[in-house]
Amino acid sequence: MLHLTPAVTIYILTLSALFGLVSGSFANCCAWRMAHGESAAKGRSHCVACGHTLSPRELIPVISWVVQKGRCRHCGAPVSIRYPLTEGFTAIAFVLIVLRYDVTLNTLQFWILTAVLLTIALVDLETGYIPDSLVLGIALDFTVVTALRGGPFWSLWLKGVFNAAAVALPLLGLVLLMDRVLGRESMGGGDIKLFFAIGLFSHWSCNLFTLLLSCFLGIAFALIFRGVCTEDGEGAFPFGPAIAAAAFLSILAAEPAVQAYLSLF
Ligand SMILES: [Zn+2]
Repeated sequence: MLHLTPAVTIYILTLSALFGLVSGSFANCCAWRMAHGESAAKGRSHCVACGHTLSPRELIPVISWVVQKGRCRHCGAPVSIRYPLTEGFTAIAFVLIVLRYDVTLNTLQFWILTAVLLTIALVDLETGYIPDSLVLGIALDFTVVTALRGGPFWSLWLKGVFNAAAVALPLLGLVLLMDRVLGRESMGGGDIKLFFAIGLFSHWSCNLFTLLLSCFLGIAFALIFRGVCTEDGEGAFPFGPAIAAAAFLSILAAEPAVQAYLSLF
């Protein structure tokens, strides 16, 4: 459907980018509220510094930030560049997903997954904690879209659970063993639950790819940001953002990457 005519292509890509901007804005807002103990769904958005309720024209993704030169229109307090950056990133992410999966249920499922992963990464960065509600949100995304597919629901659903467990359970065993040996927590429980949830969507071989990729990214992030975020000791840099980034890259490229790897033998 994406390549029906050039006009249709442009229309779908533009709409996807707009959905991405709005979803990125929403994810940002939810993440901030969760990290600061506010209800994610209730109440209107407000300035973090002065509490002034934001009007619709102050809530336009990216544009409001640029027009207001990165400051609150009311009190002049700086508004983090994290907002326009993540909104722009989500727009690009949504376009890449629709280019990869066309107008399908897969695209819908991965759009939602991307928005939740972004929320998880932001909350984990700020608090070092992955909320169970967000991990459940991913499982719900999988369950609802599986029901919408109209195939044999339980068989598709159990297949997802099998693919998730095939990587998450051995990982859990390994982590428990490592905790025993090291005498401290080697990986957070939230990280393992997150691996299980994202594993629902793909074949276990792709989930293994996601796991390996997240380890590489986790090490890279820790090395790059070590000086910035870890005042309270080594290895305190949260793993969630690396898992989220790896899961997103896997949405786009895990299948071809695994196939290319298998074709070597
Ligand atoms: Zn303000």
